[in-house]
Amino acid sequence: MPWQSPISPGYSWYEATVPDRPEFPQMAGSCKADVAVIGGGYTGLQAAYNLARQGVDVTLIDACRFGDGASGRNGGQFGTGQRAWADETEETLGHERAQLLFNMAENAKRYVLDFAGQHDIDIDFMPGQLSVGHKKSLEKDYRDHVEAMATRFGYPHLSFMEREETASRLGSSRYHFGIRDAGTGHIHPMKLLVGLAKQAALAGANLFEQTRAQKIERKGTAVVITTDRGTITTERVLVACNAYIGNLEPVTASHVMPIRSFIGATEVLSAYPNVLPGGESVDDSRFVVRYFRKSKDGRLLFGGREAYTADNPRDISTHIRRQISEIYPELGNVEITHGWGGSVGITMPRTPFCREVMPGVTSIGGYSGHGVMLSNYCGKLYADLVLGKPTELDLLKALKIPAFPGGTRFRSALLFLALSWYALRDRL
Ligand SMILES: Cc1cc2nc3c(=O)[nH]c(=O)nc-3n(C[C@H](O)[C@H](O)[C@H](O)COP(=O)(O)OP(=O)(O)OC[C@H]3O[C@@H](n4cnc5c(N)ncnc54)[C@H](O)[C@@H]3O)c2cc1C
Repeated sequence: MPWQSPISPGYSWYEATVPDRPEFPQMAGSCKADVAVIGGGYTGLQAAYNLARQGVDVTLIDACRFGDGASGRNGGQFGTGQRAWADETEETLGHERAQLLFNMAENAKRYVLDFAGQHDIDIDFMPGQLSVGHKKSLEKDYRDHVEAMATRFGYPHLSFMEREETASRLGSSRYHFGIRDAGTGHIHPMKLLVGLAKQAALAGANLFEQTRAQKIERKGTAVVITTDRGTITTERVLVACNAYIGNLEPVTASHVMPIRSFIGATEVLSAYPNVLPGGESVDDSRFVVRYFRKSKDGRLLFGGREAYTADNPRDISTHIRRQISEIYPELGNVEITHGWGGSVGITMPRTPFCREVMPGVTSIGGYSGHGVMLSNYCGKLYADLVLGKPTELDLLKALKIPAFPGGTRFRSALLFLALSWYALRDRL
């Protein structure tokens, strides 16, 4: 029987195509470490890798298996910049900070590609990204964005696509216009995750799976993490649980909200060469974003439906099929071989959350759907912080991310109402 993530629904095509996913032991008894990391996704594993290779004694625990959270199950799209467009951020934070946040995301893109290249990790990188508009009324914003990125942010890789070009690059006339980004691309997320875990182990990090942190406490000058397998006594902790934080740490839980998103993989589409003939990934302008791309072997990996309540939809494929056929009616009957989901951590302003939540304990997450490159880079930046190097994490720390309103009891209900309202507007 294939392993089923206990925290995310469905068995993914990514898991099915990575036969050498290693297993790591559970922690056996209490230990000490210079740095402890809670959470074995990209954020935590990059921190552990970068600390261990500098000789720091680092212990990382994950409640499940590495990649059972978002890092092993996402859409694989790098995108460009932060989740919010740089020209939108410019309006609230001013040009200088917007540019620095944009530069940080470009550094993140380079970092991930260099990391994979240096360690010979084949991540199935495919170039190109299309951002397409589902409402005619958004056309001016898209045109202005291309202009702003080239003239004010020094990013020349975007070009505006008229309706005809959009249709031929998508293989669908469903969208009105789009932007083509030749400076980014998409990857196989589980291949990156597995390659990263192997590198962290090789660098000397102590890696433990199926070891759940239950409590984090400050005791004198030390921080003590109580787990279901013993305690870890340490000087510094990185909380890298992101959307899966649960009740472990209340400050993170009040600032990073989980939204569940679902993906379906079709059979190989050899009979449909017009679907994404250029191999780019796509995201659309809906609030409940539809994101899709072809895998290297020619399947359509289609993500879309989001859920804001605790229940998982009974049949992920049915919902995904409906959304695929709206864009590609000819694919209405193709087989969907895998359906799965995971939790995306979002913040109110859709910029990442980074805060010292108690002395010696830093929490990072809330990449708001742009975490593939950002989470890897933020894990590396956390290691720089511990090593006393200058770090772009200061940019994130300076962002004033508000807590979601409603307190522990009503937060999820209020978010459900707010997001359902925006989702409804997608249809108007
Ligand atoms: C369906 C989906 C599609 C997405 N698509 C994209 C995309 O196309 N592009 C993009 O940029 N981003 C995308 N994202 C977001 C991206 O995947 C994440 O931002 C990124 O992977 C976050 O990595 P992380 O390491 O911070 O968290 P995660 O990978 O979620 O890891 C958190 C880990 O913490 C562990 N944990 C939780 N609680 C405890 C505890 N108490 N003790 C020990 N361990 C614990 C969990 O088991 C988990 O392994 C998507 C996410 C999802 C779910």
